[in-house]
Amino acid sequence: MKKIVFIFTLLILAVHLQAQLPRVIILATGGTIAGAGASSDRAGYTAGKIPIDQLVGSIPTVKKIANITGEQVASVGSQDMTTDIWKKLAVRANEIFQKNEADAIVITHGTDTQEETGYFLDLVIASDRPVVLTGSMRPATAISADGPKNLYDAITVAIDPKSKGRGVLISFNEGIFDAREVMKLSTTKVNAFGSPNSGPVGQVYDGKVEYYSTSIREVNVNTPFSVKADTKLPRVDIVYMYADAPPDQIDMLIAKKVDGIVIAGVGNGNFNKAYMDAVKRAVAAGIVVCRASRAPSGRVVLHDEINDDELGTIVSDDLTPQKARILLMLGLMKTKDKKTLQQYFFKY
Ligand code: ASP
Repeated sequence: MKKIVFIFTLLILAVHLQAQLPRVIILATGGTIAGAGASSDRAGYTAGKIPIDQLVGSIPTVKKIANITGEQVASVGSQDMTTDIWKKLAVRANEIFQKNEADAIVITHGTDTQEETGYFLDLVIASDRPVVLTGSMRPATAISADGPKNLYDAITVAIDPKSKGRGVLISFNEGIFDAREVMKLSTTKVNAFGSPNSGPVGQVYDGKVEYYSTSIREVNVNTPFSVKADTKLPRVDIVYMYADAPPDQIDMLIAKKVDGIVIAGVGNGNFNKAYMDAVKRAVAAGIVVCRASRAPSGRVVLHDEINDDELGTIVSDDLTPQKARILLMLGLMKTKDKKTLQQYFFKY
């Protein structure tokens, strides 16, 4: 009898301890982390094949550190990521925190556009609770698949109290990166991510999380931006500048009546005379043109070689073209005033 009481007490204790663990909801979107192929290398694999419950099943020890629930939001390679999926993620993440359904969110995502999703969510999730994205470079069926470790690490980062108030983070290959700063820097290497301007904000190692720095541009609960499921985002396109580039793409976008154009300029957001004339035409047509740079680090400075006041352009500051596009889309939902839009680029 004593034995039965003892086992029963242990059981109750175990259930109680499990209930005390931090609650993490994983929002899965696909990517190589959920990729599967017929061979043990990367050749011919398909992203987004494996459901989230199976991915979590590959790291059984995670049950000791967190109460995990998985939700399949999408199953795409992130080259097929869309603004509709971004909106779904944003709406669900805000709902999860408002209804206190979880203490933290982890998002599994392909690596190709992970930095874009991360920055978009950084701007539209109004909470100081941790949101951590991760993925993998090798499919789940490959030798030395990096997905299970990256997922375990991302959960470790998400439940660490020090991760609160840091906005959206990307946890990858033991590095922790600010979603605003991070960039995919390698096409195939396991160490694919880096933050050229600022470096990683921390590391996750042996189940421990250490931070080196804080982000100075976190919006958290005070974000001015928000989206709903039916929000129609303005159309902003990116045009790449290169030696002797003709202006045709800019003229095509003027004809399409887009809301904004980001120029991935050379150096300090520069472009040639053909682009200069086309940009004037775009500005005259009421399109907001933002000068960014195809260079992976540094900032695009106002009124350097180009006088932005005269030309009617704004600059991306240190945002890459793909992130400048996101901020311009969200900014244009609030205003068309270029001074205010420029301030967004210096603030967010
Ligand atoms: N193309 C894949 C994706 O972005 C690559 C990856 O996840 O590593 O979904």
